[in-house]
Amino acid sequence: MDAAREALSKLGITGAPTAIHMGGKSHTGRGAMLSVRSPIDGGELAALAQASAADVELAAAAAGQAFLAWRAVPAPWRGELVRRIGERLRAEKETLAELVCLEAGKIRQEALGEVQEMIDICDFAVGLSRQLYGLTIASERPAHRLMEQWHPLGPVGVITAFNFPVAVWAWNAMLALVCGDPLIWKPSEKTPLCAIACHHIAQQAIAEIPEAPAGLLSLLVGGAEVGQALAAHRGVPLVSATGSVPMGRAVAQTVAARLGRSLLELGGNNAAIVAPSADLDLAVRGIVFGAVGTCGQRCTTLRRLIVHRSIYDTLLTKLEAVYRELPIGDPRDMHTLVGPLIDEAAALAMDAALAQAREQGGIVRQGERVTKDVPVGGYYVRPALVEIAAAASVLQQETFAPILYLLRYETLEQAIALQNDVPQGLASAIFTNDVREAELFCSPQGSDCGIANVNIGTSGAEIGGAFGGEKETGGGRESGSDAWKAYMRRATNTINYSAELPLAQGIEFDV
Ligand code: NAD
Repeated sequence: MDAAREALSKLGITGAPTAIHMGGKSHTGRGAMLSVRSPIDGGELAALAQASAADVELAAAAAGQAFLAWRAVPAPWRGELVRRIGERLRAEKETLAELVCLEAGKIRQEALGEVQEMIDICDFAVGLSRQLYGLTIASERPAHRLMEQWHPLGPVGVITAFNFPVAVWAWNAMLALVCGDPLIWKPSEKTPLCAIACHHIAQQAIAEIPEAPAGLLSLLVGGAEVGQALAAHRGVPLVSATGSVPMGRAVAQTVAARLGRSLLELGGNNAAIVAPSADLDLAVRGIVFGAVGTCGQRCTTLRRLIVHRSIYDTLLTKLEAVYRELPIGDPRDMHTLVGPLIDEAAALAMDAALAQAREQGGIVRQGERVTKDVPVGGYYVRPALVEIAAAASVLQQETFAPILYLLRYETLEQAIALQNDVPQGLASAIFTNDVREAELFCSPQGSDCGIANVNIGTSGAEIGGAFGGEKETGGGRESGSDAWKAYMRRATNTINYSAELPLAQGIEFDV
């Protein structure tokens, strides 16, 4: 598609896109050819020879070298690099959003929002570059001081998923850069052009900072084997991986085999409880954005709705009415709210889940393939509402498509138990105007997820909070709060400023 070429050339990327970017230079890969297709109409956006596992060795060497220089640059000056990246992202917001729309199929509003998230994390990281604090701790020994310091960790490997092709890299990259770490990025094979664009924008800022070494950022476009090579490499102390649970399990095992550190952001199976006191009109807006936004392809997508039996029929009727009118189609059209699924495999997975739900006694409403008034060659669907029993096994899995299962409940305790009764633990919400219910939901007896919201939906997190989830979601936290600590190593220092050498715990050891 010419639009992708045009967007890339607006950013200053001319010529055919290549798979290997390291040491400030770009190279063609020697791996298998990759045809990059737009989910909008299946048209080819680009074709490129991919990187291979062997390229990880070169990128790790470049990153290792860069680390020696970058760790010695004062953190606030590292922040200056991130500030400049943020300025460039502001200037290129429209163009980058266009690429996100073309390559991931996000509607314009969501694509712009994703780029805004990158800008926000840049601002956050710049502030953080002056706040990488350690503690001072009371020592049990006279004339001793105990303190913590946070030091740069080393090269960070970043593996990302197709559905957040730019923001997830930015969450990792901006924190890692201010923390003093180089990065090696392996993006999704489905969205390499977004990655090439981000890398290019960051490289322009790097070129302005003489202290920023050439090997600070690397990008390798390749498949799972490149991700595995990154996970296996001893020169990469932290591997941050975002994607499906099977991918996370494979990465975690490889990283654990060398006793490395992994930060996992994996699948979700998110639920919202709607209590009798809920403001139903507000709830409907939150539910629909959570369930159909990004065509149900967010890790935080609302997949299960647990509704009090007294309001169940009313809410279902309201949702059905909104679902019937959802504007589905070309994500570039300003009126579209539901764009395409990423590819045919996603559409088949949705069909399979709906068939499974029917077999398990579910009543499926809507959810059909849409072929009228949509671009030919893309996979467009009407989001589905499925009434189903709590015991149905289909409820336990994350199907990356807009399917919302509806369950009834009697007591809040029962609703919370249903909400927690899945292997994943990312995002959750309750719609209620009862403060006791809201507080119970957020309490230790409430939601077991990393994210628990009141009167907003499950998706659309701000960058200021730590983002991530429990159980099979992987336990990682990225973005705001103190997530930066994952990108640093903590050193505990004990300093003796006396002429004595008292031992801890009162141990006598005279020599
Ligand atoms: P995916 O698991 O298919 O791929 C993600 C990335 O992992 C890609 O770059 C892929 O090449 C790589 N990969 C796949 N297998 C690998 C292996 N064995 N070793 C190393 N790397 C490997 O996921 P996807 O389809 O791109 O994205 C959808 C999934 O990502 C969903 O499950 C979604 O919930 C999850 N996700 C989670 C978050 C979060 O923050 N928790 C955010 C976005 C997406």
